[in-house]
Amino acid sequence: MAFRELASTPAPEPPGAPWPASMERTPDGLRFAGAALSELAAYGTPVYLLDEGELLARARAWREALPDGRIYYASKSFLTPAVARWMMAEGLDLDVASEGELRTALAGGVPGERLGLHGNAKSRELLELALEVGVGRIVLDSPGEADLLEEIARNRGVSAPCFVRVTTGVHAGGHEFIATAHEDQKFGLSLATGEAKALAQRVAGSDSLELRGLHSHIGSQIAGTDGFVAAGERIIELVVELAGEGIAIPEIDLGGGYGIVYTALDPTPVAPAQVISEIRGALEELCAKAGIDLPELSIEPGRSISGPAGITCYTVLGVKDVTTADGVRRYVSVDGGMSDNIRPALYQADYTAMLNRASEAEQVACRVVGIHCESGDIVVPDVALPGDITPGDLLVVAATGAYGRTMASNYNMLPRPGVLGVREGRAHWLWRPETWEDLLGQFAEDDGGAGTPAREG
Ligand SMILES: *Cc1c(COP(=O)(O)O)cnc(C)c1O
Repeated sequence: MAFRELASTPAPEPPGAPWPASMERTPDGLRFAGAALSELAAYGTPVYLLDEGELLARARAWREALPDGRIYYASKSFLTPAVARWMMAEGLDLDVASEGELRTALAGGVPGERLGLHGNAKSRELLELALEVGVGRIVLDSPGEADLLEEIARNRGVSAPCFVRVTTGVHAGGHEFIATAHEDQKFGLSLATGEAKALAQRVAGSDSLELRGLHSHIGSQIAGTDGFVAAGERIIELVVELAGEGIAIPEIDLGGGYGIVYTALDPTPVAPAQVISEIRGALEELCAKAGIDLPELSIEPGRSISGPAGITCYTVLGVKDVTTADGVRRYVSVDGGMSDNIRPALYQADYTAMLNRASEAEQVACRVVGIHCESGDIVVPDVALPGDITPGDLLVVAATGAYGRTMASNYNMLPRPGVLGVREGRAHWLWRPETWEDLLGQFAEDDGGAGTPAREG
């Protein structure tokens, strides 16, 4: 059979990307953050595993790379109250983009002034709450939102700290749905048409809004630094223009999107210190030419902190060979799928996987799939796995710490898996798994429907 005709490669062996630095292979199987994978799997699969040491080390690397600026951890990538508290303890601030994320950060004890509020559409209730808890910055995404926030701030007798989100036109990132700075999409105000500048002028002229800075986020999973430098340069051009009108911009935020390694095909990410020095170098030069000081810099890494710190552990349920035009592909079905990781279906995101147990068997071309009723329910599109893979085997997928649990769904009525935080061999539920009671408790006991008369005896 022509397994070899499918260009599958095995996952790189740990330690090292895409696996957390603490992961290792022993004759008895994999170890994760000092614990045996088989013992962690005994909590039940599928399960997300988070290496807390790796998460903190990654936060620290960004903090050290930008000691005089602000690092906003993008909470949508992975957030629990404990994670919010740890980020704060590491000297990071937090980005939130919904009432739920805001409340989770507050539940972790993060004061309002260390939160940045994002979103292309924010409700009156959310803006009220933001001002009530004293959110440090609100990133405006439309003139209408500025009007609404101004009204709310005026009624409260406060001045709302604002950034203006600028669409720089820099196209970066892997998939169209994660690139956010081209023109025809929902985020930000265009630099090219002058809409960004007009909103900055409007905020600067308001008695209830305070213009604190300009914001750019060009997309996600971006390799290298060229895109960030290009976007930063365009932002600085606007800073210079506004300075000419007497409008000062104290801070610029270049967003997140720093790429990570998901598979052996991904380039090694540029280290945080080098990312910052390249961006700063280019922007300082531009500012010097224009005769202005470089505004304070802030950035918003999400996945580059949480992504590589997490893996998902599944149990293999079934193995089936399927003949394709290119040869035979072995379909390995696991006990989760698109409900715990939507990214392959949503963005054609690639991942890699390996077995817990060591095997000398010949490697075969595999596709790891979930148990959902969709042919797009793919966990890993193409990976070489040992040919003796069999139901009951434990299989781990790398780099699922970001946008795994936070994008999980209950499709096919699957309870969402929990996240086990693991540190120095000790595990605890950072986010407990959903139970059947959680799921079934959402339905009214009498599901006769609203308005349906009670049945008579
Ligand atoms: C999603 C997002 C981020 C984080 O993106 P990552 O790819 O996780 O680094 C940062 N800023 C904004 C505005 C975002 O929407």
